[in-house]
Amino acid sequence: MQYQNSLAFAKQQDKEDSLSHLRNQFHIPKDKNGKDWLYFTGNSLGLQPKTTKKYINQELEDWENLGVEGHFEAKNPWLNYHELLTDKMAKIVGAKPIEVCVMNTLTTNLHLLMVSFYRPTKTKYKIVIESDAFPSDRYAVESQLQFHGFSKEDIIEWKPQKGEELLKIEDLEKIISEQGDKIALLLIGGVNYYTGQYLNLKRIAEIGHTKNCVVGIDLAHGAGNIQPNLHDSNVDFAAWCTYKYLNSGPGSLAGIFVHEKHAKNKNLPRFAGWWNHNKETRFNMRQPFDVMKGAEGWQLSNPPILSMAAIKASLDLFDEVGMGALRKKSEKLTGYFEFLINEIGADAIKIITPKNSEERGCQLSIQVKNADKSLHKKLTENNIITDWREPDVIRCAPTPMYNSFEDVFNMVSVLKTLL
Ligand SMILES: *Cc1c(COP(=O)(O)O)cnc(C)c1O
Repeated sequence: MQYQNSLAFAKQQDKEDSLSHLRNQFHIPKDKNGKDWLYFTGNSLGLQPKTTKKYINQELEDWENLGVEGHFEAKNPWLNYHELLTDKMAKIVGAKPIEVCVMNTLTTNLHLLMVSFYRPTKTKYKIVIESDAFPSDRYAVESQLQFHGFSKEDIIEWKPQKGEELLKIEDLEKIISEQGDKIALLLIGGVNYYTGQYLNLKRIAEIGHTKNCVVGIDLAHGAGNIQPNLHDSNVDFAAWCTYKYLNSGPGSLAGIFVHEKHAKNKNLPRFAGWWNHNKETRFNMRQPFDVMKGAEGWQLSNPPILSMAAIKASLDLFDEVGMGALRKKSEKLTGYFEFLINEIGADAIKIITPKNSEERGCQLSIQVKNADKSLHKKLTENNIITDWREPDVIRCAPTPMYNSFEDVFNMVSVLKTLL
């Protein structure tokens, strides 16, 4: 499509946008004059849907009125509350319901999944991560290696080539063909948090599986952003948080995916608690442990319902709109953002995110040569909320749920004057 660099064009796009009404379903933070912030950090903490309070209040009231009976008698009985989230979450990541469960938090889930899927031997024990992996994922992997008696030197980094920012699939192929016999696990960010690059999950799974390496994906920056088709991609497992693009509130519970091919494998070593024990006999309390099939078989505890209520509010909204429509708007919105940044025409600015919309989500990572954090501070003073990554990158994520073309236009206008 043909973009234009004018406020009138941006406003016209918003008018024609069939999802523009969604913005009204969110609380947009405002400055002291009541003007909406330009909020571009849905990749860090998504905004609050206006329905969230109602969903949480329902559970508070049921607790108030029913006490323990709420497990069975609440409007949405707590005992099986997580099941209300499964189908909608599965649709968001392109999985079958048996493959998905909402539980714990992201890094915790990565560990629980590695208990089952990182099974090193004396000769096959190394782990591949991206060189720009999110710190928590790197620490998790280092500690798993050390826990099994190996060292953090046993990480193999998939790196961009010299002078480049993005990962090339050929380089992963090379790592696996040369060292695959020593590699037990690949744990890769499906959408890289720093560059915004969306990797080809199916290809990564194929490459890893040629040498019998297990393939796990961190989808923190993918869930609710891109359409990862986890089932078809054939990755072994995945995990993601719900407080970024899934707008479920700070520190809210996370999701896991375990591919159907592992669903009935009761021999996978794993940690246990009463919540991954067979539902039918869970409360007999005397039975030997009988693990549930599917992703539910990795739960440990009865979950925090208040957090799940916030997730339910958000997933109901996603379900109403559909990822297909969101993604379509997202490509257009980020395309417009990219067009406007390029229009500034400053040599100092470089977008490091891939140009091809199939290789990115909504985020653009903008490198500003010789800039320092004062640029980010000035943006914030102009009510533009972005994320700064040292040494010189601004990460901006216009989300299709609540950002407008006008937001994008106004943001770039300010950035231009600041430069
Ligand atoms: C946000 C993010 C995390 C955060 O982990 P928590 O356990 O939720 O604190 C981890 N990994 C990646 C890739 C992330 O983007």
